Amino acid sequence: MESPGADFSPDTLAFMELALEQAKLAFDSLEVPVGCVIVEDGKVIASGRNRTTETRNASRHAEMEAVDVLLEDWQKNGLSKLEVAKKLSKCHLYVTCEPCIMCAAALSILGVKEVYYGCTNDKFGGCGSILSLHLGCSELLKSGGIPQGKGFKCIRGIMASEAVSLLRTFYEQGNPNAPKPHRPLTHQATH
Ligand SMILES: [Zn+2]
Repeated sequence: MESPGADFSPDTLAFMELALEQAKLAFDSLEVPVGCVIVEDGKVIASGRNRTTETRNASRHAEMEAVDVLLEDWQKNGLSKLEVAKKLSKCHLYVTCEPCIMCAAALSILGVKEVYYGCTNDKFGGCGSILSLHLGCSELLKSGGIPQGKGFKCIRGIMASEAVSLLRTFYEQGNPNAPKPHRPLTHQATH
């Protein structure tokens, strides 16, 4: 794993830039601003942004949105389960914020190859912050037929400050569901 602040390749930065664009779309739709893209062979094949408010479904995180786009596409094209698994095993996912425990577990079971993320998710992070689901659980795999995560390579800290500042701006100003501040932040005369 590369340490935060390490130099990332131009490609890595470009894909994270696209994920940030998705996060900004979420922001503009009054959603918690997290975005992601999925890349196969150096090409973006799916993107997603958080849609929990719009769908009134707390599990519609950016990663799940993007994965569902792919699974739907592949199903329409008649890909077999094996072909889907093979394609997923080549995919890289770029997300602006560390995948939560739910998403990290899902990505691990789906078998994506690599996950690149921006800022850490100190409350719910599943790739190092709270749990380390990206490490997989190959030892437990032998215990029975329950699907277990294979784990994935995880690289963090890409454009983290951009991701954080979007989230910070959202929680300070943009979230209509957030409790109102006790005092107005600015108190300017309107005339
Ligand atoms: Zn999530």
